[in-house]
Amino acid sequence: MLSSVLAVAADTAHAVNPWVAFAYLVAGVCFILALRGLSHPTTSRQGNRYGMVGMLIAVVTTLVTHDIASLPEILIAIAIGGAIGFVTARKIAMTDMPQLVAAFHSLVGMAAVLVGWAAYLNPGAFGILVPGTLDMGGGLGVGEQMVISPVSRVEMGLGIAIGAITFSGSVIAFLKLAGKMSGAPIMLPGRHVINLGTLAAILLLTAYFTQDQSLWIIAAVTVLAFIIGFLLIIPIGGADMPVVVSMLNSYSGWAAAAMGFTLHNTAMIITGALVGASGAILSYIMCKAMNRGFLSVIAGGFGGDSGGGGAGAAKTDRPWKRGSAEDAAFMMSQAEQVIIIPGYGMAVAQAQHVLREMTDLLKEKGVTVKFAIHPVAGRMPGHMNVLLAEASVPYDDVFELEDINGEFAQTDVAFIIGANDVVNPAAKTDKSSPIYGMPVFDVDKAKQVFFIKRSMGGVGYAGVDNDVFYMDQTMMLLSDAKKMVEEINKALAD
Ligand code: NDP
Repeated sequence: MLSSVLAVAADTAHAVNPWVAFAYLVAGVCFILALRGLSHPTTSRQGNRYGMVGMLIAVVTTLVTHDIASLPEILIAIAIGGAIGFVTARKIAMTDMPQLVAAFHSLVGMAAVLVGWAAYLNPGAFGILVPGTLDMGGGLGVGEQMVISPVSRVEMGLGIAIGAITFSGSVIAFLKLAGKMSGAPIMLPGRHVINLGTLAAILLLTAYFTQDQSLWIIAAVTVLAFIIGFLLIIPIGGADMPVVVSMLNSYSGWAAAAMGFTLHNTAMIITGALVGASGAILSYIMCKAMNRGFLSVIAGGFGGDSGGGGAGAAKTDRPWKRGSAEDAAFMMSQAEQVIIIPGYGMAVAQAQHVLREMTDLLKEKGVTVKFAIHPVAGRMPGHMNVLLAEASVPYDDVFELEDINGEFAQTDVAFIIGANDVVNPAAKTDKSSPIYGMPVFDVDKAKQVFFIKRSMGGVGYAGVDNDVFYMDQTMMLLSDAKKMVEEINKALAD
């Protein structure tokens, strides 16, 4: 039954209908406009709308132009999936988005595996049978047997492999991001050899599958792909997880494109390729931001051998200074320029709105206030930009790392709110640190540093101590970020 429902979309006859092709083209253009819109906070809502319209066109076109095997089943599935998506989207906390995204990627991967298997088990429903030109054994002569077309077998093998890798990789990413599994890298001895060997086996088996459509081959591809997805993600830990999120995003796109080939659905191929390519570009950008090699990411296990995922703790025996909201309010109101560096803790505390009020109060006093956004601050790409946009912080006040890092030396106050790894100088100086090599903000060059976090014991995502806590010019503001900024605002307003 599953295969016949899936086969709704698998209709080559309609794919050549010019109106269907045109509708899919319009949907594809909408998706491209969506990606373009999503590239900037000012246009992201419009981008989302384009994406929704494109998806509506693609789904409706597919439904009305194909022989529907069972419309009620499809509508029930849409209603169940839509309801789960709606409730989840409304309830999910912004800080839990990365694991939600990972969970969604795993669903795309599993869908690709199921589509591939459905096509294998019921190829007639997918229109992929051709007269046998291969020796199928069992005394059946060549040409007497309908077999799965060799091209479809390649699509099936690759689709199932990419889907299975996406599924198991995303499950591990979900567990790590949700804190249900240690974020520390798990390094198997000889992992690169194992990974390359497994990948080579998958490709060879897929090639052999074109000659022999036996069940054991496609089953072996599936199992090996599930294993390699798992192996690729377990060695990645700590601060390197952002690249994993974007990389799995890309994999899920390619899995969807592979499904499109199996289902002979051009809209799905276009959409999958767009997601796959944009995810790959994002992974590349994140790699550059983290100063990691793109190829080593794909090979897996590019993180350091130490630290990762919240292990370790600050060395509280070193001397440090505690400040108060009044100290911060006074120093900032006297400053010419304040640079605010938000991080994950701001998202946890939901402090963006009170922070916006603080910047307004400072600006009223003639202080120049700028926001410095690190590409991996928070727990998902663009996390800080989204929160600041939500609080209506003007875009002109928000600067990328490379555009503002040179300004710290001329800045009176660096105000770090819930950020940690992205300001940790160990990334520049300590070769043994798991964040070594990642570009970080030069907050140590500012005349005065205020550092908001809840306790001296807590560490950033990478789990490493931060020398900024102990610098002469640093005052620790130990409190929940929202509460601390509210107190600062009160002091500024008095
Ligand atoms: P970090 O995770 O390094 O640090 C978070 C800081 O916030 C800690 O100092 C924590 O200290 C503090 N904090 C937490 N809750 C609160 C609160 N309620 N009030 C005040 N402070 C709070 O954050 P960064 O943004 O600097 O760095 C992001 C890290 O996450 C990087 O290592 C990055 O690689 C990784 N990452 C990023 C992803 C992305 O896509 N952007 C995805 C996955 C990982 P305390 O507990 O003491 O309060």
